[in-house]
Parts: sequence; C-alpha cells; structure tokens
Amino acid sequence: MFFHRKELMFPVKVDTPNPRFGQMLLEQFGGATGELTASLQYWVQSFHVQDAGIRDMLQDIAIEEFSHLEMVGRMIELHTQGPKRQAAEQSPLFAIRGIGPHFLDSQGQAWCAAYINEGGNVVRDLRANIAAEAGARQTYEALLNMCEDAGTKQALTFLLTREISHTQMFMQALNSIGKLDDPMFGNVKPDETVDLYFNMSRDGALDMRGAWNQEPTFRFVDNPTPQGQVPTEVVNPDDEKMPGAGAKGGKAKPGGTAAH
Ligand code: MN
Ligand code: MN
Repeated sequence: MFFHRKELMFPVKVDTPNPRFGQMLLEQFGGATGELTASLQYWVQSFHVQDAGIRDMLQDIAIEEFSHLEMVGRMIELHTQGPKRQAAEQSPLFAIRGIGPHFLDSQGQAWCAAYINEGGNVVRDLRANIAAEAGARQTYEALLNMCEDAGTKQALTFLLTREISHTQMFMQALNSIGKLDDPMFGNVKPDETVDLYFNMSRDGALDMRGAWNQEPTFRFVDNPTPQGQVPTEVVNPDDEKMPGAGAKGGKAKPGGTAAH
C-alpha cells in the first residue's frame, strides 16, 4: 500500500526558469541514469530478495528515489513554466509537449525498461545498484556543471549527495554478506582459469602491472595462445554462390577443413 505526502522531500526552488536546462534535467527523470530507473529497479528487486533486512533497505531506498523523481519533476515544471515563446526558442521539446516532466531523456528518447538491471541473486542486484548510483551521481555532476541557477544547484547537490549515501548503503549490505570484495557468488564453481590474467593488448613497455594482474590474486599470462580449434566451415545453403566457386578451391564440402 502506498501513501503520498504532498510536501517535497527537500526544497525545490528555481530563481530563473530555463527551458533548455529543463530539457537537460529530463535525463534524471526519463533517462537511463534517472530516478525512475533507480526507484523501479530497487522496488522490483525487493520482491525476490530473501534477506528481510536487505529487502527493507531496498524498499526504503526505492521510495526515496520516488521522492527524488518527484523533486526532479517539480524542478522541470518550474524550469518550463516560462513564456511560450521562450520555451519554443530554448527547447522545442517543451514547446510541443507542454510544460512539466515527460518520461523522455534529455534528447527526447522515451524511457525504456531495459535500463533496469535486476534479477536472480542479491549480489548481482546490489552490484547493479552500485553501478546505477554511480551513473546517477555522474549525471548530477554534469548537470551541476551546466547549471547557473542557485536554487536548482542546491536541490541537485542534495540529490547527488543522496546517491553517494545509497552507494555506501549498498556497499555495506554487500559487506554484511561478505561479498564486497569477493567476486565469486552463486552456486557454480569457477574453472581453473579463474586466477589468470590474459595480456590481450600487448606492447612491451605499455603492458602495465598492478594488483589487478599480479600475485597473489592473479597469474599473468604474457602471451596467451588459443586453446580451441579453428571453427569448421560455415554451412549456409541460402548464401550467395560466389562466381568461380567450384573451379578452384571450391570443392570444400560442408564440414570439411578449410583450404588455404
Ligand atoms: Mn536518487
Ligand atoms: Mn540513489
């Protein structure tokens, strides 16, 4: 069951409306890193997470994200309330669709459920959430860099701050189940390649070494060699018949070895 309070979570004040900036703000309303994505992602995760504590946290943060969505929506509304002429000159999107938020991103692309990353396992979910928070934080910083309105900046700084708080909550939740710095989870035992680092972009002096590719965690494979075979020839009866095929070297039968 949901209740809704009409007061905003944090004050939203816009001193100088700017429809063009309002359109940029859409990125956090109907964009990939936006508040709708975050709120729905954490909410739907809460339906399959067994741990009661983590489930409760996901629900609390999901509802906070809805409160952020409401703030961003209000901010967009305030930035697009200006005279029609100004709106049309600065952002055709709002001149045509009308004032206030829409479930579009800053480029007018419709919000998409594929933005949501969830399912199967609480570790996967929590790691996806850390990535989601990183994307949201980064977008808020980009918006702040382009923002000239003091009131808007204050609200955006609050929203950016909360994404950092959420990141730490998700990290602590992972830590509480021992999965913050353990890459393994789930029920399938990895094979013996798990500690191999393949030096696939090779250039002597430019091959850098660090904790990510050295002992004690990793064995560095300097010159990786293929462990598999050359795939058998492609068999596609519908493919175009090449001129001259069959004359020279065209005798390869389906499944035969490639002639070079
Ligand atoms: Mn948020
Ligand atoms: Mn967040």
